Amino acid sequence: QVDRPEGIQEARLKLPVVGEEQKIMEAIFNNSSIVIWGATGSGKTTQLPQFLFEAGFGHPDSPNPGMIAVTQPRRVAAVSMSKRVGDELGQYSDRVSYQIRFDTNVSSKTAIKFMTDGILLREIANDFSLSKYSVIIIDEAHERSVNTDILIGMASRIVDLRESMCKEDPSVKPLKLVIMSATLRISDFTQNIHLFRHGIPPLIQAEGRQYPVTVHFARRTHRDYVEEAFRKVSRGHRKLPAGAMLVFLTGQNEIKQLSKRLKQVFKPTQRGEDFQGKLRLSAADAPLETEDLELGDPDTGPQGEDDDSDIDIVGLDDEHEDDEDFDLGEESMSSSTRVHVLPLYSQLPTKEQLKVFEPPPEGSRLIVLATNVAETSLTIPGIKYVFDCGRSKEKQYDLTTGVQTFQIGWISKASASQRAGRAGRTGPGHCYRLYSSAIYEADFPDYTEPEILRTPIEGVVLQMKSMGLHNVTNFPFPTPPSRQGLTKAEKLLKNLGALKSDGQVTELGNKLSSYPLSPRYGKMLQIGHQHGCMPYVIAVVSALAVGDLFVQESQSDTMVSTLGNGKDGIYTNSDRLEDTAREKRRKDFYRAQRLLSKHDDTSDALRYLSAICAYAYASASDEESFCEKMFLRAKGLKEASQLRSQLADIVRTNNLGLLGSYESRLPEPTEKQIKALKQIVTAGFIDNVAIRADMSPEPPEMQRKPRGAVDVPYYTLFRSRESRATEVDEKAVYIHPSSILAHLTPKEMPQYIIYSHLQQSTPSHVTGSNVPKIRMFPLVAPS
Ligand code: ADP
Ligand code: MG
Repeated sequence: QVDRPEGIQEARLKLPVVGEEQKIMEAIFNNSSIVIWGATGSGKTTQLPQFLFEAGFGHPDSPNPGMIAVTQPRRVAAVSMSKRVGDELGQYSDRVSYQIRFDTNVSSKTAIKFMTDGILLREIANDFSLSKYSVIIIDEAHERSVNTDILIGMASRIVDLRESMCKEDPSVKPLKLVIMSATLRISDFTQNIHLFRHGIPPLIQAEGRQYPVTVHFARRTHRDYVEEAFRKVSRGHRKLPAGAMLVFLTGQNEIKQLSKRLKQVFKPTQRGEDFQGKLRLSAADAPLETEDLELGDPDTGPQGEDDDSDIDIVGLDDEHEDDEDFDLGEESMSSSTRVHVLPLYSQLPTKEQLKVFEPPPEGSRLIVLATNVAETSLTIPGIKYVFDCGRSKEKQYDLTTGVQTFQIGWISKASASQRAGRAGRTGPGHCYRLYSSAIYEADFPDYTEPEILRTPIEGVVLQMKSMGLHNVTNFPFPTPPSRQGLTKAEKLLKNLGALKSDGQVTELGNKLSSYPLSPRYGKMLQIGHQHGCMPYVIAVVSALAVGDLFVQESQSDTMVSTLGNGKDGIYTNSDRLEDTAREKRRKDFYRAQRLLSKHDDTSDALRYLSAICAYAYASASDEESFCEKMFLRAKGLKEASQLRSQLADIVRTNNLGLLGSYESRLPEPTEKQIKALKQIVTAGFIDNVAIRADMSPEPPEMQRKPRGAVDVPYYTLFRSRESRATEVDEKAVYIHPSSILAHLTPKEMPQYIIYSHLQQSTPSHVTGSNVPKIRMFPLVAPS
């Protein structure tokens, strides 16, 4: 018998999912797998684990003693939902725990365990029958992350396995599988006989969103949606009754920009005391998770050259167009109400992210500016108004060429409805879409493409093979990866020596699969013994795997904005002060760069090494200011450091005796070691090699001389464009301006460059002669 806090008990009874409790539990008892569909906010995530708990799952002396696993695609969700369910469970709150990478509060009492899907996948690798669990709940299945998809495929097999195990040995208990989705895009699961060999699972629906959300389309769609968001949110704040706002944008730069403007126009709340939550949080599953990575490209502004001709361009004089949308017939807040503006994006330190769950200061309006991190799973209390820009930044990966792009594009209709749903979680709400219904109907796809079709899958393939699933095409994928993707993955794995030519996994391959990393990094760790390099290899691998550790000069927080000045062509005194600040900042930046490149000024990989090694010398209390001084990302470095000690453990297990005790403060590497390190990095990325075009066997006709390092054309070993282009511009790739090589003169540029990946950041549909450049992220320049 659970004694729930009073308010919670009442609120619970209104949830659609609670109304279906009996039907759901019957289905679970009568079937090994079931699918639950319920709109956002219907109570799936918070209630299902409690139903199971109350039915005895997870109790040591019940017929189902194993724990209840609940997976989430994101870390913040795993932590915050475990806390919420704990609160709801009254006297049993200590039975709910979470586990994310590098952090957990699991104890011997744990009955309900929230975790990221990546964590459960790793657990399968160690215990294929998942013997600790009696039920697996896979949440947010509609998001279709690679991990979720693979997990569903694995879990469907494990359910069968456990069934046959318990026929032989009655002490083994069966495993139940519950798949939960917020959209009806579930036919990939429910109609998939490959996936469920013993009949498709029953589908239970929990109808209805909890509170109604009124959707307001814009009459027109503005190209500059950040500006438009500013305009609408400002008007909304003046006109709308009390209630928190959630604004969806595509990335952290846009969020900072809008935040700054709102704080300029309205009275911001004082800097509140820091969140002193009970949650002890550290870090991160980044390599395994689907989060929006901001590999901010100084080349292109956040809004890019959006040349979509369907978009109307309108003047700013439609001031009154949305007055009726904002007139809700209720009293608006006083326009002097303070605004409590909080950002929410994945690169933000977790501590900062969790601030959105705290009540805003008395008498202020909470305005959360978020990327699609906030699209599903999280309930931010009190959100009544959603402003949706209708776009998101998605990582696309070209399966043939391996070029990745971060494109800002329309979201799917399903996502738009998820976003709108955020407004109806704790009461009736309104969603203001910054796009017209015509564009929505014509241009928004119904659903987002599953991630497995747009991401490299060598890690997945190797993982499966080393688990004994030799024929990857036989794996019950909800959506199978493309043949191109598979071929590319197998080719790379063979190059790395992880697979034999017949596709069987090698002994090396098995070792590589034990690292929670891309096989490329595993390879570097496996060959890292020479010249006592191993501690350095571990350090550089952790830094590279977390990636994006450097703050660009133009991106830093204290960056002096160009917004607000120059608007009227007036150059003020404060502008002059800003110029001086900018000058100083630039000097600091170059000083930091010099320090980090002192071992080798042509290798970005070694810059990563310097960063993580220097970070280890900063004292624990000093880490943040150290990072700020060195233009480093504190969250990334913390995560990289945790990964570093985890990898040291794995290396020690894999290679008995080859690594002494773990020491984070390393002496400077010797010259010999630096040379060896470069070779080791090269071995992991051997296929990612580019040659300076003018030094290649077929040097191109150069129309004009490159003006800087970033204009020097290189050719990659494998073609990097689909088209059979002949123009230099179309065939070549160039270094990314964030590279350490960018300061060289064109002449000094190395003949060969090993790079980690290629990226094209402007939309590929941009018309005209201006073909967007493909940029490589260099690692080392082999000499
Ligand atoms: P679903 O998983 O179906 O989207 P949830 O179980 O996450 O729904 O949430 C159900 C309801 O519980 C929400 O609509 C909201 O009313 C309430 N709720 C969930 N989390 C919180 C929270 N942290 N604070 C306040 N209310 C919450
Ligand atoms: Mg949920």
